Amino acid sequence: MHISEEQLKQVNTQIQRLIKADNFYGKKLKEAGISGVSSEEDFLKLPFSQKQDLRDAYPLGLMATDEKDIVRIHSSSGTTGTPVIIPYTQKDVDDWGKMFKRCYEFAGITNEDRIHITPGYGLWTAGIGFQNGCEMLGAMAVPMGPGNTDKQLQMMMDLKSTVLCATSSYALLLAEEIEKRGIADKIHLKKGVIGSERWGEKMRKRIKNELGIELYDIYGLTEIYGPGIGINCKYETGMHIWDDYIYLEIIDPETGEIVPDGEWGEIVLTTLVKEGAPLIRYRTHDISRILPGECPCGSKHPRIDVIAGRSDDMVKIKGVNVFPKQIEEVLALFPELSSEYQIHISHLDGKDTMRIYVETNGSVDFLEMAKKVALKVKSKIGFTPLVKVVELGVLPRSEKKSKRVFDERYE
Ligand code: ZN
Repeated sequence: MHISEEQLKQVNTQIQRLIKADNFYGKKLKEAGISGVSSEEDFLKLPFSQKQDLRDAYPLGLMATDEKDIVRIHSSSGTTGTPVIIPYTQKDVDDWGKMFKRCYEFAGITNEDRIHITPGYGLWTAGIGFQNGCEMLGAMAVPMGPGNTDKQLQMMMDLKSTVLCATSSYALLLAEEIEKRGIADKIHLKKGVIGSERWGEKMRKRIKNELGIELYDIYGLTEIYGPGIGINCKYETGMHIWDDYIYLEIIDPETGEIVPDGEWGEIVLTTLVKEGAPLIRYRTHDISRILPGECPCGSKHPRIDVIAGRSDDMVKIKGVNVFPKQIEEVLALFPELSSEYQIHISHLDGKDTMRIYVETNGSVDFLEMAKKVALKVKSKIGFTPLVKVVELGVLPRSEKKSKRVFDERYE
């Protein structure tokens, strides 16, 4: 994918704004001797920005406009360290709403829908983003926020909500409650708009089947407006990203080089028209890839695949970037295997090797199974791992996220 003339012009305007504001990124640009961009080559020389830069700018150092133009701030949760504060002008709020409205439209949601919004309202961008887009669309918002399952279900039944907005885990919880209480016939949901936390195909199918709804994955992050900068269409061929507001790149997280379309890497985003806090080449640490070609829906907005994890989970072996998600996809092809696995990367006899431990019950030939898995991994990633099949229950389980990738090369 290449940056268009129009996008270049927009980036150039953002750069002028930042330099004039002399905020953290403006200073960074000046230090790098950058005064503008007029070609793709120029663009690719722009330094990346990182979450840490945003933390360093706490509380209002990101502001790139006169304070009288700021109408609102949002903040990322800040579970690790200083939070990040993003200031918004009225135009930013409106643009975000327009993007979110487009998300609903791509999901076939109209002003006749009743949208049940369960993400939280507050400093973070979740609930209010869903709300803004809903009002701009002219649909009826039911601003529930999270929690209180009894009330959620009561309102859902009484108001005949047709769209559920939720995280995947909360959607699953509600689906299970609906089943448990035997109230499925009183629920009128047709569609679910689900926040972009990482979720597996199995979970997706369960929500879909138990609620009998179409599911749409929405993408976004607080640093770049919030949720609503992209969504999949009904063809489910990845999430379209609104490239009239955001320029999208996928880079190799180690080298910072752009990877060819279709290859996995880290999502890097540049805001094109933001006023309050423009960000240039912001590294999201989310792993995905650009899906080449055109979507059957005819939209020209570029598409990214599902978020495959965080760049911190990535390992590089024999020059190839490997993500746990790719291994999971292979394992999912074998119903004989459990969902538990471990990947160990080590350096033996002068070369890097990958060992994959998988679990199965006693009913299959362990050696045969190992061969089959190794072949599939080879066809997916390009090299053959050593696969070790172990009995069910051998790999450690943890209630929290289990550690699955062990890079032993540098220990
Ligand atoms: Zn499409």
